[in-house]
Amino acid sequence: MKNRRFLLVGSDFEPFCMALYGQGGIHIPKICADGGVRFAHPVEGELPDLSLIRTILPLKKYLFPPKDKVLSYSQDNGYQPVEYNSGKLLIFGVHPCDLAAISYLDKIFLNGEPDAFYLPRRKSLALIGVSCMPDKYCSCGDIASPMPADCDIFLYKIETGYMVSCESDEGSAILSPLSPFLHETDILPPESTRDNFSLNSVEKFPDDLSGVSSELQEMARSCLGCGACSICCPTCYCFDLLELPSLNGERAERFRIWDNCLYQSHAEVAGGYNFRKARTERFDYRYRHKYLGFGQLQGIMSCVGCGRCIANCPAGLDLRPLACKALKESSHAATSP
Ligand code: SF4
Ligand code: SF4
Repeated sequence: MKNRRFLLVGSDFEPFCMALYGQGGIHIPKICADGGVRFAHPVEGELPDLSLIRTILPLKKYLFPPKDKVLSYSQDNGYQPVEYNSGKLLIFGVHPCDLAAISYLDKIFLNGEPDAFYLPRRKSLALIGVSCMPDKYCSCGDIASPMPADCDIFLYKIETGYMVSCESDEGSAILSPLSPFLHETDILPPESTRDNFSLNSVEKFPDDLSGVSSELQEMARSCLGCGACSICCPTCYCFDLLELPSLNGERAERFRIWDNCLYQSHAEVAGGYNFRKARTERFDYRYRHKYLGFGQLQGIMSCVGCGRCIANCPAGLDLRPLACKALKESSHAATSP
């Protein structure tokens, strides 16, 4: 079924979902009891709410958990790695921006020597994407992303139901038992926000931010340094390693925990020196990472436009106008004689 497209009529959506749930572990977007929107297990008979715009936390929580035990120590056995074993988990209802964010994290954690904790988790995930309608916080349509919105199966919303696109061997294995609900079609997929991803000709941000530095400084002065924007960002992946020993020193556990470039401690090194002590420096650093990339991904924008940082910022800060101005000034400079 790979590379083929099918129509799923609206009246078949419920039996399609129930048959899909029967294949094993599955998480869907839903409003949980506390009112938060999350990917979580459906309760019996519950359908995914594909109209929800964004979950609080993105999919990085599955691949790179906030607190992850990576080593155990005992006096008898020394340090032992923690084995990660998990069955297949299907995530149903992932928006293109979150799929593109996984493509970005794959570049970070799987390039060269794959990360031993990320790789098995990534292999255990099967991704079912779905088209969406951007809201006022989204920027996938304003600043296109170079990252592909790859997945195993993608559902395009159409008037009569969904067009289901099978995109991998794994997608094929998932869809094969569901074929009674699917009718093959050669109609092209409708336009969707997915088209805003994987664009090779994405505009280039200027390395020199002097044209927007006064606005950047002004925004940075309003930043509270709470770190919410980084916690909820699907492509932020800074981490720290923390070792917690038992009181008698006979045992210890080492954890990989999320770090946050907006925290003052982020750039503190041995001896107490801090090379980004001022909040304005930390704010500038985050901006540069999101739009200019760094390290092995220098020049690759890491913002996929999900809007979480804007929706969750208690100071109401929004980097988009700044990014658009920087882009405009750079294209103006490029065309000036
Ligand atoms: S969420 Fe807003 S206030 Fe908090 S660190 Fe980010 S930009 Fe600053
Ligand atoms: S910077 Fe903001 S809009 Fe961009 S990917 Fe991160 S959370 Fe989403």
